[in-house]
Order: sequence, then C-alpha cells, then structure tokens
Amino acid sequence: MKRREKMMECPGCGLRLPDQQIERPHRYNATGECYQKYNELSFYTMSQQDLHFVHQHAIDTYSAQHAGAGMKNITVAFSLIGLYYAIELGFTGKQVQRVHMLLSQRPYNWPSLPLPENSYLITVQDVLKEKPGKNRDVMLREWMYDVWRCWEHQHDWVKNISNHLLR
Ligand SMILES: [Zn+2]
Repeated sequence: MKRREKMMECPGCGLRLPDQQIERPHRYNATGECYQKYNELSFYTMSQQDLHFVHQHAIDTYSAQHAGAGMKNITVAFSLIGLYYAIELGFTGKQVQRVHMLLSQRPYNWPSLPLPENSYLITVQDVLKEKPGKNRDVMLREWMYDVWRCWEHQHDWVKNISNHLLR
C-alpha cells in the first residue's frame, strides 16, 4: 500500500507541496519547498535578459507574500513600495530597481507592518506552471496584482511614505 504523501503548507502563501524535508529559508516566512519554487522562478526571470527586468517584480511579489517570521521590516516595506510603483504607476522592474536604490539612500526607521488577513489566490507555483514566455509573464502579472490586493490595508501607508521619501 502506498503511503500518503505528507504535505507542507507554506505559512506565507498557503501553497501545499509534498514534504521534502527542505530547510526553511532565513528571512522568509516560507517552507523550504515553496522557497525552492521561488528559486526556480528566479532562475527563469534572470535568464530572460529583458530590458524591463521583470525579475524585480518577482522579488517584490515573493517577499511581500512571505513577510513575517525573520523578514526585516525594510524588506517588507521595499517590496510593497516596489509593487505600488509597478502596479499603480506602471513602472518597469528596471525603474523599480532605481526606486529601491534611491530609497536606500534615505535613512528611515521602517515599522513592522501588520500582515494581510485575506488569503492569497496565486502562488509562485501557478506562475511556474505556465508555459515560459507570454503565458508565464501574464501569470506573473496576475500574481503581483493578487499580492498587492491582499495588502490593501497598507495601500495608503505605502503611497504616503513613497511620496514623503521620494518627492
Ligand atoms: Zn509560499
């Protein structure tokens, strides 16, 4: 008789994957299994050589979705600010990268932000399941929107702090 596979549920995004006894990543509220999927996606986005640097969106989306545990406040804040510029202002990954660079030059005591209460609908696995190319890019976009939507309770804060620090 086949033993039932033990599943691990990611505390960040809720993704359930077979337990492979992978160590949890530091600074992400994620299972090792979920984080491995993120590494797979990173490998893909970094190999794209796109001028818009989509990889930045993947970093910000995954970080925001896996806030909590040992993640630094500044990482959560930067990822949300990155999503804000990408989604609300139409910035490319390259432009968001520059925003992060400018932000890092503004000393600020980043607060700890309350995590979303809604659950996420899209995970890194959904993005990976799509065929590389256009389909996957579209799903990556959907993933960004889903994460940004779940953080709705912080939208005003993100907008205000961005205007305050990057005027
Ligand atoms: Zn996860």
